Amino acid sequence: MKAGIFTVTIEKIVDMGVQQTRHFKLVFDPSVNFDFDAGQFINIMVPETPEHKALKRPYSIASPPDWKGYLDLCWKRIEGGIATNYLWQLKEGDKLQIQGPLGRFTVKQPLPKTIVYISTGTGIAPFRSMIYNLLKKGAPCEIWNIFGNRFDEDILYKEEFEDWAKEHSNFRNVFTVSRPKTWKGENQYVQHMLKKYIPDPRDKHIYICGLTNMIMEVQATALEMGFAKEQIIYEKYD
Ligand SMILES: Cc1cc2nc3c(=O)[nH]c(=O)nc-3n(C[C@H](O)[C@H](O)[C@H](O)COP(=O)(O)OP(=O)(O)OC[C@H]3O[C@@H](n4cnc5c(N)ncnc54)[C@H](O)[C@@H]3O)c2cc1C
Repeated sequence: MKAGIFTVTIEKIVDMGVQQTRHFKLVFDPSVNFDFDAGQFINIMVPETPEHKALKRPYSIASPPDWKGYLDLCWKRIEGGIATNYLWQLKEGDKLQIQGPLGRFTVKQPLPKTIVYISTGTGIAPFRSMIYNLLKKGAPCEIWNIFGNRFDEDILYKEEFEDWAKEHSNFRNVFTVSRPKTWKGENQYVQHMLKKYIPDPRDKHIYICGLTNMIMEVQATALEMGFAKEQIIYEKYD
């Protein structure tokens, strides 16, 4: 679908974790048929204020294409951030202008035997869309979700991913928490999880999403392990 500009209504706002992260459900007008590929993003149009000009910022679509009529977003408030502080003061029922769908961070064909998704924080957003979509379509590959966070409470969509893993024997989560409180699971960085769980690079694609530092570290580890550049696909948030 060609990108356009749409007005959406914020139907639901959910506070997630401890890091000032919010989930938005954005509903389209019933006459709109918004079609996109899992992994794509939209721009949020931030109106002009006395402090800044009108601007746009990209946010990954966190829901899969076949949840029709709405989009989920998952975003973190940044101190002093223009777009996220604009979003922070919005309430359920408010309207928002978006532009999309945009981006090429989508599932690469032909599918390999194994797909490894690696993210930290809100970098999980496009993977919620891609993973659900692949599982729903019965994709014949093994799917891993390596998801790193600082604190126990920050594992976004944890129960949902756990439910998907119970329902699909080809899907596995590796949650890792770097500053655990009561968490007893993995506690090393995501690149260590890649080494531990995916030692053999053959017939695999790695998708990475989040901040540049993390992406560069995971990529360096993957290359060291023998992955080729073509097997590593990423989306930088900063
Ligand atoms: C393709 C794409 C998809 C994205 N999807 C998402 C998403 O789904 N959820 C989401 O939360 N963000 C996402 N981002 C990041 C988002 O677009 C904004 O950059 C971010 O929300 C900050 O915007 P802002 O206007 O509030 O901050 P700005 O006013 O742009 O920045 C203020 C300061 O904070 C720094 N900064 C910017 N982002 C971060 C960050 N994440 N952590 C720490 N410091 C930062 C900047 O360098 C700057 O110094 C995505 C980015 C891209 C390119």
